[in-house]
Parts: sequence; structure tokens; C-alpha cells
Amino acid sequence: MNLILLGPPGSGKGTQSEFIVKKYGYYQLSTGDILRQAITKKTTTGMVVKDILASGKLVNNELILQIMEEKLSETYSKPGRIFDGFPRTIMQAEQLEELLHNQNMKLDLIIELSVDENTLLERITKRANESSETREDDTIEILKKRLEVYNIETKPIIDYYTDKYHVQKIDGMMSVHKVSERIEELINLNS
Ligand code: ADP
Repeated sequence: MNLILLGPPGSGKGTQSEFIVKKYGYYQLSTGDILRQAITKKTTTGMVVKDILASGKLVNNELILQIMEEKLSETYSKPGRIFDGFPRTIMQAEQLEELLHNQNMKLDLIIELSVDENTLLERITKRANESSETREDDTIEILKKRLEVYNIETKPIIDYYTDKYHVQKIDGMMSVHKVSERIEELINLNS
């Protein structure tokens, strides 16, 4: 099972990925988490991307693809993969299809979590105030930038995929539990 979770920052991709990992044992490939770990460990990649993440802009496609290719190769023995935060540009979407194709795999399920912008702003503000491990990019100002980048760079992926696959839209304003239930239904239908 290869599953993509698409949605703006704060739409619940991380929370739902955790649920899927626990329930199905799939491997979560979150580029945001991978990059933040690199920053914490002060690796060469971490040094390169630190300021980019703090600014809310995107890391360049080549670096992301290199990271993803390497991480993906560690997951082939797993029953499934969840792509969270990747792809984020049309180019990444095309490359993902190619990477999977080379392994005789395909995309099985694409889920879009939709949440209105005001709710996203509220959620991230709350997360920034409550979290002990505050993310440098979880401020209203940077969130606005991340939303802008999402609308320009990432949203077009939904149209790109809609032409080729059936993109499943889930109302991300429902409770966490309801969203999980809906995802579970879709995984069971598609596996
Ligand atoms: P969000 O809360 O917006 O879903 P993520 O944790 O997925 O945030 O990503 C945080 C930051 O990491 C992004 O704003 C971007 O700078 C960088 N990043 C993550 N994934 C990608 C990607 N696929 N391509 C380019 N940059 C990325």
C-alpha cells in the first residue's frame, strides 16, 4: 500500500499518519520530520536546510528527492508507506511515480485533508503555544508563508493527480477520530 496524505500545514497529516502506523504497521515517510531530525543532529543536510525551514519556503527538489530515494529504499520490506509532506511540488509528484514504478509499485491511495484557512491558523497558534518542542516555523507569520507556498506549489498536485487517479477528499474539520475512521475505511477498500 502506497498512500499519500495531502493537505495544508495543520490539516492533521502528522496525527493521522501516527494512527495509520499504529494500526497497519506502514512506514511513515515525513519529509518535514526527516529534515527536522537532520537539523537537530546538525548533519550537512541539516545545516543546508535550517534557514529554509525557518522561513517557511521549500527545500529544493533535488535535495528532497535524494533524501526520499534513500529513505524509500529502507521501506521495501514494510507492508505499506505513507507519504506525508511529500510530494510538495508537481516535479516531486512526477518523481515519486517514477521511483515507485522502478520498484514495480504504484500509488494506491491519495487522500486530501481539507481544512479552511481560519481553522488552520487557530490550530497552529494553539500548537505553538502548547507544544514543549515549539517548531521554529510555527508562528503566525511563517504559517501564512507556508500556506501561501502550499497554495502555489502544492495544491496544483491535487489537479495533477485527479486527472490520473481518484483523489479521496476527507473533511479535515471533523474530529480526529472521525477522520481516522474514514481513512481506515479507505485503506480497507483499497488494499
Ligand atoms: P507542515 O506543517 O507544513 O505540513 P512539514 O513538517 O511537512 O510542515 O514541513 C516543514 C518544512 O520542511 C516545510 O515548510 C519545508 O521548508 C520543508 N519541507 C518538507 N517537505 C518538503 C518537500 N517535500 N519539499 C520541499 N520542502 C519540504
